[in-house]
Amino acid sequence: MANDANCFALAESIAGAARGARVVFGVILGTGVGGGVVIDRVAREGANAVGGEFGHGQQQGIAEEALRYGRVHQPRACYCGLVDCREQYIAGAAVEREFLARSSRALSLREIEIVGSAGDDEARDAIERWAQRVAISLADVVNLLDPDCIVLGGGASNLEAATEGMSARVAQYTFGDCMRTPILRAQLGDSAGVIGAAWLW
Ligand SMILES: [Zn+2]
Repeated sequence: MANDANCFALAESIAGAARGARVVFGVILGTGVGGGVVIDRVAREGANAVGGEFGHGQQQGIAEEALRYGRVHQPRACYCGLVDCREQYIAGAAVEREFLARSSRALSLREIEIVGSAGDDEARDAIERWAQRVAISLADVVNLLDPDCIVLGGGASNLEAATEGMSARVAQYTFGDCMRTPILRAQLGDSAGVIGAAWLW
């Protein structure tokens, strides 16, 4: 079985937003979070078949974030058995759950963005926190892999903050002075996984 996120990253590197880039990191920010690394049009599954498994492992910066908002950080258990995995903080579904818990309003990610733009502080903060968490996490990818291109897919990639200003946010957390990596929205939509799977076989 080929991993969905690997298929997504492969498809985007061959026919989507990352066309022409040699080293591509693709990440799906949807119900969960999955990532894939593609080098020269080959998805790198790795020795443990977890290559690019970006959703798990600890989200950095959340204790500081809680302090900034005057809260005490409450750790979140992840179904994988670890605590405070990135998926619990940057998946589109995680933002909706968090917004519901804090504001008692059940809004979709898109609705949170819309009311935030219209002046709702709680919604604006939710999107701002999400973008900052994504940036912190992508900076780790840049420092480790330094891909030629990063492609974002899944529901949360449609948020304006996913790509607008994201490079500058990531640059705050990367090593060195330059952050030239394009961070692009996926182009193939929901069909990317299927296209990627077809390429694999
Ligand atoms: Zn996890």
